Amino acid sequence: MEIPKFLIERYQFWKKNSFEDYKNIYDKASKTVQKPIAMIITCCDSRILENSIFGGGVGDYFIHKNIANIVPSKNDKEQNIQTLSAIEYALKVLKIPNIIILGHSNCGGVEYSYKILKDKKNLNNFKYVNKWLSCLNNSYNKIPKDLAENDKITFFEQVNIKQSIENLHEYDFINKLINEKKLNVIGLWYQINSGQIKFLNKENSFIDLDYL
Ligand SMILES: [Zn+2]
Repeated sequence: MEIPKFLIERYQFWKKNSFEDYKNIYDKASKTVQKPIAMIITCCDSRILENSIFGGGVGDYFIHKNIANIVPSKNDKEQNIQTLSAIEYALKVLKIPNIIILGHSNCGGVEYSYKILKDKKNLNNFKYVNKWLSCLNNSYNKIPKDLAENDKITFFEQVNIKQSIENLHEYDFINKLINEKKLNVIGLWYQINSGQIKFLNKENSFIDLDYL
């Protein structure tokens, strides 16, 4: 096994610069229990820089990434272990008061799911991805048939965020915290090219975060 040059160079740069600047913060963080202000559930997509977008410092965000930022339904029995165990730890141990579901534009996972549900011919020979993305079937069925193709994908990305939030309520330990107002659930959709973020409001509509 070889370590790639980019990894060595970037690490050494970080150590000499960023780490040096925040040395005291890292030291303090190592001596205290982490107390993140929010858990962020987002996509594995390399273009989603959640710490950069929300100014994350050491210990600020507890992050869970999966393909297409899904919180599986309780009925998706096989698929829910990883995401739910991260949420369970975040809520029961760290007592994080906010969960953010951060979806995004140009999501390869959502697009692939759209393609295979539209036409089975598009199905790739994935051993795991196809199974995981079956969690999106319910959201796919909510796409209005009269939308333009591009709008359908955006709708799918956004309805997936709504569905994931609905799914959170299926788990008693999460639902209880939401009802007791100890947990705030936030749905966001991020557009990569414009940097715009839309927020899911109480009326269940996505509105621009820039104007709040
Ligand atoms: Zn994605």
